[in-house]
Amino acid sequence: MRFRQQARTWLALMLATAMPLAAQTSAPAERRVLVRAGRLIDGASDGAKTDQGILITGERITRVGPYADVAAAAGNAERVDLSRFTVLPGFIDAHTHVFLDGGEYATQLLKQSIPFRTIEAVTAARAALDYGFTTIRDLETEGAMYADVDVKTAIDRGIIPGPRMLVATRALAPTGMYPLSGYSWELDVPAGAQLVDGADNLRRAVREQVKFGADWIKVYADRDSYVGEDGRLHSWSNWTDEEFKAIVDEARRLGRSVAAHATGVEGIDAALRAGVQSIEHGDGLTPELIDRMMRQRVYWCPTIYVGARPQTGRPPLRATMAEFKRKAFGEAVRRGMGDLIAFGTDAGGFAWTENPAQEFAYYVRYGMTPAQAIRTATTNAARLLGREKDVGTILAGKLADLVAVDGDPLTDPASLTRAKWSMKGGVTSPPPK
Ligand SMILES: [Zn+2]
Repeated sequence: MRFRQQARTWLALMLATAMPLAAQTSAPAERRVLVRAGRLIDGASDGAKTDQGILITGERITRVGPYADVAAAAGNAERVDLSRFTVLPGFIDAHTHVFLDGGEYATQLLKQSIPFRTIEAVTAARAALDYGFTTIRDLETEGAMYADVDVKTAIDRGIIPGPRMLVATRALAPTGMYPLSGYSWELDVPAGAQLVDGADNLRRAVREQVKFGADWIKVYADRDSYVGEDGRLHSWSNWTDEEFKAIVDEARRLGRSVAAHATGVEGIDAALRAGVQSIEHGDGLTPELIDRMMRQRVYWCPTIYVGARPQTGRPPLRATMAEFKRKAFGEAVRRGMGDLIAFGTDAGGFAWTENPAQEFAYYVRYGMTPAQAIRTATTNAARLLGREKDVGTILAGKLADLVAVDGDPLTDPASLTRAKWSMKGGVTSPPPK
């Protein structure tokens, strides 16, 4: 008996010393919060319900329904009054780069140390959360090695605020096919991805990335897009089929999925042949390729805002690619691909001071209903990430990931850029305004 008591005391002490930071920011299991939503879009159905209550116990939602009913059962739960706002599932951005700051790429790789870039990444993660993104898939560090795993760990332990992160670490490209390039051969300049050739070496690289914490494997399928005489957007494929299949096969064997950067027809085609789970960018998607993606249940992260936003000094090819993407997006929606489009912005490709939620309005402008556009960042992205049991909907049993925006997103998609309050796993940030 006495031994058991001592053991219990020791266990309590060990827990207290091992997890002080986790205890600081994760919601205590017994903490109960009642959120009053003026309007609720729960992600499970398209419409909005007015005056709803969401009861949260610890990190999970325990009850959702008409406010009066939920309040009657809520007892002395803490109250959060969001009756002036629309509450939605916390947004998911399935394509970000917290290690990019929107500045010149070579400057980041040549003049900034990885510790400096990590400090910037910490501020980017905080920004993402403030914009209402409670989950992000960060698709490679662009030369900052495995530091994304450290940022993710710091967030998970409650050391810094940020969204829950799925990380891709270094990404894969073949020799000579990813920047930095164009420097004297006498210089040994860093590369923005892990440069690997040959199927066996690629298997080894995938194993190494997984060993150091990669949740996803990111691969560059092509480069150098150009408009062909047939009017389609072509590109140079990066891999032999043997290499590409080795990447996907090894990732799958280790329980990981593969995201393929692919802009032109050849790159998208190669990625689909290899069996990837998502196409990133996909500017050159044709009706045939869209149909293949639907048959194979492959997701598309369009990243429209990064290319289409107002900007000075955009190279002509960039403008052309943005136009290709606009047409491909409309075609994909018309062909019924909407549920396979996952919200992805390439944030970091533009500065984190710009709100990535501006992507929503482009989806509506290019052919989606506002409800469809919202689903890209909730249920669709949750399914792509294999996290639909936890995130993407506001239902009893799900993690309490919520965002409150000022306005009605079903009539005004721009209101999705006006996040006023967010909660991740039952923890609020910042307090209600
Ligand atoms: Zn990217």
